[in-house]
Amino acid sequence: MSKKTITVKGKKLNTKPRPRVIETLLFYSHANNFDSAKKEWGYVTIVLKEDDAFVKHCELCGARNYDFNVMIQNENTNKDLKVGSECIKRFVLLDGCKNAEDAAVLIQQKVVEASVERELITLYKILRKAPKPSAAEVTRFNKRLSEYLNKTGKRRSIYTKEELQEILETVLDVHDYTQQDVMVLDCMIENPRKFMRDKRFRVTT
Ligand SMILES: [Zn+2]
Repeated sequence: MSKKTITVKGKKLNTKPRPRVIETLLFYSHANNFDSAKKEWGYVTIVLKEDDAFVKHCELCGARNYDFNVMIQNENTNKDLKVGSECIKRFVLLDGCKNAEDAAVLIQQKVVEASVERELITLYKILRKAPKPSAAEVTRFNKRLSEYLNKTGKRRSIYTKEELQEILETVLDVHDYTQQDVMVLDCMIENPRKFMRDKRFRVTT
């Protein structure tokens, strides 16, 4: 199997943490033993390799990270650490997980979610500025966004202005949106064909 494949194995960690892992974690925690220190840390987000914030080596054990980091944060010190898929399994209390297996499944779901978000952000940027949006990309964006909104319980038959603004901000990472952006997104969702045809939706810069 290629090393670049994302593999979060569902089996339990039976290795003891290396001294470096323990030292680093204790350094950034209030507790002075490893098991208590672990409880101070919570899940923040997945950092994909395409993100600027991605680090190539796990900040706890130094192992090479290929596809993603899991960012965790200490509730007392506010320190963030970006760790790999092996180290994260040591934090099984993560989001209420009962064991390393649950944690691995949860992380895998978060990675898939983050990849879809990443794709939506990229597609939106391309389509919003395209002089001639490609039908394939418009269809893909529309489909992916519907699936995403469905999964997160935010799918509607008709979206209010506020809901569209929320999608722009929280899903598509657009924070300085205009009323035009809201209108364009509405059309991308409701009537992709019209979005492709209508010249009013092209950005001229
Ligand atoms: Zn590690």
